[in-house]
Amino acid sequence: MTAKFKTDSETNLTVDYRPLELEQEIRRFWERNRIQQKVAEAREKKNKGILGYVEGPPTLNGIPHVGHARGRAMKDLRYRLKTMQGYFVPFWAGWDCQGLPVELEVEKQMGVKNKRELLQRVSEERFVEECKKTIMKYHKQWVELDCKLGVFIDQAKAYWTFHDAYIEKEWQILKRAWDQGLLEEGHYVVAYCPGCQTSLSNAEIGFEDSYQVVEDPSLYFKFKVADSRNEYLLVWTTMPFTLITDTMAAVRPDADYVKVQVGGEVWILVKQRLEPLMKELAIEKFKIVQTQKGKSLEGTRYEFPFKDMVPRQAELEKSSPLVHTVICEDFVDVETATGVVHLSPGNGEEDFFAAMKRGVPIFAPFDDEAKFTVEGGKFCGVFARDTDKMVVEELRNRGLLVEVKPVRHEYPTCWRSHHKIVWLARKEYFLRTDKINARVLEAAEKVEYFFDETKNRFMSFLRERKPWCISRERVWGAPLPVWKCRECGAKTLVSSKKELLEKALEKPSGDFELHKPWVDRVTFKCEKCGGTMFREDFVLDTWHNSGASPYARFSADDYAKYVPADFLTEGVDQTRGWANSLLLEHVILTGRPEPPYKAFLFQGLVQDAKGRKMSKSVGNVIDPNRLLEKYSADATRFYSLRKCSPIDFINFDPNELGRRTYHVLSTLYHLNRFFLQNAEFDNFDPRKHTLEWARKAKQVKNVESWLLSKLQGMIETYTSRLEKCEFNGALALLEDFVIESLSRLYVPMVRKELWTDEPQTLDRRFAVYATLHHALWTVTLLFNPVTPYLSEALHQGVSRRLDPTLPESVNLEDWPKPDAELRNKVAEEDFETLFKCVSLVYAARQSAGLKRRWPLSGLVIVGPKEVCNALRTVSELLIELTNVQAVEYATEKTPQRVLDEKWATASEGDIQVFLNPHRDEKLLGAGLMRDLARRVQALRKELGYMPTDVLEAVHIAELDDESIRLLEPYASEMKNLVRSKELLFQVSRGETSVEWHESQLDDKKVAMAISGKKAE
Ligand SMILES: [Zn+2]
Ligand SMILES: [Zn+2]
Repeated sequence: MTAKFKTDSETNLTVDYRPLELEQEIRRFWERNRIQQKVAEAREKKNKGILGYVEGPPTLNGIPHVGHARGRAMKDLRYRLKTMQGYFVPFWAGWDCQGLPVELEVEKQMGVKNKRELLQRVSEERFVEECKKTIMKYHKQWVELDCKLGVFIDQAKAYWTFHDAYIEKEWQILKRAWDQGLLEEGHYVVAYCPGCQTSLSNAEIGFEDSYQVVEDPSLYFKFKVADSRNEYLLVWTTMPFTLITDTMAAVRPDADYVKVQVGGEVWILVKQRLEPLMKELAIEKFKIVQTQKGKSLEGTRYEFPFKDMVPRQAELEKSSPLVHTVICEDFVDVETATGVVHLSPGNGEEDFFAAMKRGVPIFAPFDDEAKFTVEGGKFCGVFARDTDKMVVEELRNRGLLVEVKPVRHEYPTCWRSHHKIVWLARKEYFLRTDKINARVLEAAEKVEYFFDETKNRFMSFLRERKPWCISRERVWGAPLPVWKCRECGAKTLVSSKKELLEKALEKPSGDFELHKPWVDRVTFKCEKCGGTMFREDFVLDTWHNSGASPYARFSADDYAKYVPADFLTEGVDQTRGWANSLLLEHVILTGRPEPPYKAFLFQGLVQDAKGRKMSKSVGNVIDPNRLLEKYSADATRFYSLRKCSPIDFINFDPNELGRRTYHVLSTLYHLNRFFLQNAEFDNFDPRKHTLEWARKAKQVKNVESWLLSKLQGMIETYTSRLEKCEFNGALALLEDFVIESLSRLYVPMVRKELWTDEPQTLDRRFAVYATLHHALWTVTLLFNPVTPYLSEALHQGVSRRLDPTLPESVNLEDWPKPDAELRNKVAEEDFETLFKCVSLVYAARQSAGLKRRWPLSGLVIVGPKEVCNALRTVSELLIELTNVQAVEYATEKTPQRVLDEKWATASEGDIQVFLNPHRDEKLLGAGLMRDLARRVQALRKELGYMPTDVLEAVHIAELDDESIRLLEPYASEMKNLVRSKELLFQVSRGETSVEWHESQLDDKKVAMAISGKKAE
């Protein structure tokens, strides 16, 4: 027998699949040949359409985590898919550079604890400089990750939110809001972080993780009804400090309230809470004196307990008759507590509205650190929440305390610093997005979200229709472009640097930029009164920066071409973040109910293998760089898309990634090597020996019809799943095609035909190569959006090697389309039947203890006519796959002899298989030979022989005489199977000096040795 195979020293495909080396090589290839640029240029020049894209800018306040890697894999998948489909996508990077997250990171680096310390110790200039240094430091690491991950995003065309030109565009959006009366200054209750010393937007309060279990006092206390002898309103709160700013009490008008005799006092509370509450307070003796509707309590005056400590409260009473009286409100909860709530319009949103609509003054005596001001009287200088204990003690002293105990409950904390949020009425700037809510909702309805649950979450958030507080009392941000006259209070908004410089009383110096402190030094002359106008000392919410991106990052021409964006995807935490701010700003900008994106996929977040949130304190954070260095980019990408639906939280397990994913990619790699070695030996030319040629030459068998048909169906479903963002379902299909259809079924079914090198069967081999080529080439293209490195390597090492006229990169190929001509439903069904029978035969073997590798003499299949007819067309394969010598079909009834001889059997539905369990010497010999051959194969592999290497000799020693006698008729078959020139049976090992390997053969021991040259 001649050596059929060349060695593969010239191919790029190494013997083993070594993804890390492969990726390094491909990365060099891409860089050297400017592939990324060429792909973009080619599509920009010639495309079947433009699909707009705006990068959701990562905040440069830290290094990317593994969740970012998953998100970026999804973006790149979409880009490569659409590019191969013929579209031009402006896949350009963008970076979020300003705002609280960056400031806090820099504060941490500089060892500053809060804003006050910052402003005392560090100048604003210096701080801004440090912020810029920090974003550049993290930018470098992000670009590195993109590069390693194989993300083809254009870094050269990135936008930066801190650039003056970008800020000017943001100002223009604010100008639109200003002109529409949507940008307002006003007192409003905002969530305020005492640590960061800035207000937070509503969206920020809802962030993942911002609610934490904290301990607060659960306090029951009494307000004495004014001018009564012994009547009290019973009230409950977990924020005692709000008593200091209390101005009203509220009851639910339609609920029943009772006056209850408790000891010498009469308490007023809602009726339905009486029994549970008395139990909770361990009060056994009580008596209802009177029942009345809440409405009848309206106007009841009560004595504010701290008038002596907070003199301002007495003045408030004089300024409004409603202060310290009972009012009626429907929002009062009567299911818990006492049904009587006290209202602090300076510290609560509902309270605030209740006061506003009644013209009751807002009492909010707090400074920037949420400490009480002089108006807070005795509490002056104390941080709001630190007065909780003082208030409780004062109530106790005055005999107004009923009960206090600690309660653990979920309470919102700052998403950055985790300080407990305090609600404060403050002067802020608002985008009155509540006024355009109908248009916002209409715009949001036009978007494709792919999954209902994520859409519902987004829509219900938007329906909250809250104004958007866009002002932040910080330093490093886009400045609010509003100047206000010190004298008359007139305001003006500038929307460009040019306008600012024209209005400036004094021209700023050379290094002027649109940031604090420079911009604060610019003053205008008031057109109304001639006074001086100063800038309102706020920067913008960082989400306003990124939300401006569609307008701010493009030129006017590009904006017209690329907005609305075709497809965006970000983490589910951006429901309240970027997805929201993009939408609001676009509706403000255009004045129309139009979204700036056509589709938005919200990704689930990444957790550790056990489903816990990744955090530094738990120590379970996975650094994506480590992952890429250990397991490769392709594996990371494939795993993070394959493991679960993109909207699910993924439990990221690197071990799993190393095993299963590696197996899939390595199988694809080795299938390609197997194909290439064989095809090259026969000088297969894919341009000549096409599928068309094979069909005309009548060399296509039903096994090819089945495989090709299955492939067409897979292309169609895979593509549609990718389009619908069902990445995991799509990849399951692709994986199944490679592992099952190609590797476990098709290749084993044709391997024997490829083993020979006889000229008369060359055409048949060409037909097999044409089939394999078509299937593998298609699969390589389908894999490209997910595993770009492996696909490029196979494109270069296999496809272009066989056909150098192919495009320079796999990314320049067209996306495969299913070929209707190759669909063959009958073949697919026949093969389904075949595989079903094969698994029934396996089941029958297992039940009778007949190993799969033992050849058996007969198989009888009993089943309906259609089944048997289908199987007849694939009899040869059925015999091969089930390892029997003959098959019979019975459509009428079960042959008597299989029952008499007790054949092994298994059945499913209307198909029953019978297997002759009796093994004569011939079958025993053949089975033994297969057993031995399998072990020799394993030994070959273990010793590093290539499947194509031909051995000099195989030595078998220490087999008993009986076995050798059984084996003798099969010696030449075995030589072929194990690819050896000689097969020698020896009694003992001593006869030859070779390296022996022991092996267990059922109940016998056997020694084996092999010799021969290995391929280089
Ligand atoms: Zn904070
Ligand atoms: Zn003025």
